Amino acid sequence: MLVSLGEPNSQSVSVFYIVATPIGNLGDFSPRAVEVLQSVDYIACEDTRTSGKLLTAFKINTPVFSFHQHNEHSKVEHILNILRGNQSVALISDAGMPGISDPGFLAIRAIKKEGFDVIVIPGPDAATTALIASGLPSDRYTFEGFLPHKKGRQKKLLALTDEERTMIFYESPHRIVKLLKELKEYFGEHRIAAIARELTKKFEEVNRGTINDLLQDYESRNSIKGEIAVVVSGKGYSE
Ligand code: SAM
Repeated sequence: MLVSLGEPNSQSVSVFYIVATPIGNLGDFSPRAVEVLQSVDYIACEDTRTSGKLLTAFKINTPVFSFHQHNEHSKVEHILNILRGNQSVALISDAGMPGISDPGFLAIRAIKKEGFDVIVIPGPDAATTALIASGLPSDRYTFEGFLPHKKGRQKKLLALTDEERTMIFYESPHRIVKLLKELKEYFGEHRIAAIARELTKKFEEVNRGTINDLLQDYESRNSIKGEIAVVVSGKGYSE
């Protein structure tokens, strides 16, 4: 059953909300996300300056504190104390869904173990947006996020060579050509893939083709900017 806008679907005290924010386009910020962020006692932000711009744009004046991968352990205790005091906290990351290549999991696990409610306010994430934009099979997929930079990178790629599900990777613009070369080496030059760059933004671009086509395209570019997600078809896929 649908709950109408503005109608609470849970008690609002001692709740830990996980709130998705836009991955580029402010129009993707849901009214429910804004409402929750306006009504909670505190917002835990990955980067208070980055989130400050978003919060100001949506007239959200809730007090913030930082919560990132380097202070996650100590801040989980801080969040628990707030919840124990019958107040509520919302977690946001710089963009998209907290917990997806962003901090969140440790806090969610600890807070659920203490018996507090965790409510997710769904919204954009780059992985599923790229998957659907790729036109590759979406019935079964695996999210690989960022590959390790050095140690373990080749091992991870090797373990994926027999993967039959569609794979989603995140990569930075300055490592995308390196990744495409590795994908060619491990998956073969004819494997179909897609590169989704700057999703939901002004210069959004989704290129699809064989890994070789994509490598040639990206190698020929003078400069590569923006945020990138790579989607690779699974072993045995053909069209
Ligand atoms: N939590 C985010 C999410 O829900 O997708 C991901 C955070 S992760 C630190 C950032 C990476 O996500 C970027 O380096 C890029 O690989 C991917 N990404 C984020 N926004 C994107 C966009 N607009 N277009 C393509 N990829 C994006």
